[in-house]
Amino acid sequence: MAKTLFEKIIAREIPASIVYEDDQCVAFKDISPAAPVHVLLVPRKPIPRLCDATAEDQALLGHLMLTAGKVAEQQGCGEAFRLAVNNGAEAGQSVFHLHLHIIGGGQFAWPSR
Ligand code: AMP
Repeated sequence: MAKTLFEKIIAREIPASIVYEDDQCVAFKDISPAAPVHVLLVPRKPIPRLCDATAEDQALLGHLMLTAGKVAEQQGCGEAFRLAVNNGAEAGQSVFHLHLHIIGGGQFAWPSR
């Protein structure tokens, strides 16, 4: 299987501004930020979409949620940030390697469409 764009970033084959990494995930700045803070948190395991995750991935998904809070704090979001996962092309997913958008640094309306 060809590597996903995010696998190439994780492998340092494509440059990115990496702000955090551990044995399970990597976070880097979105190339086209939608807010003052816009970081993508990506599991090293290339799960294509959230709906492709299985019970085997439960601990990894929990780790991503806990890590997202830490990364948001490290990026200066305080306690105000949004996590978003686009699942599927119709929902706006363009890179088919699961990722959490960590968005912060401002006040956001809800819902947005
Ligand atoms: P999604 O549309 O939910 O799949 O999100 C994919 C995100 O990846 C978008 O917000 C893009 O701006 C971002 N993106 C695409 N290419 C890169 C890249 N080379 N480095 C960092 N972010 C990227």
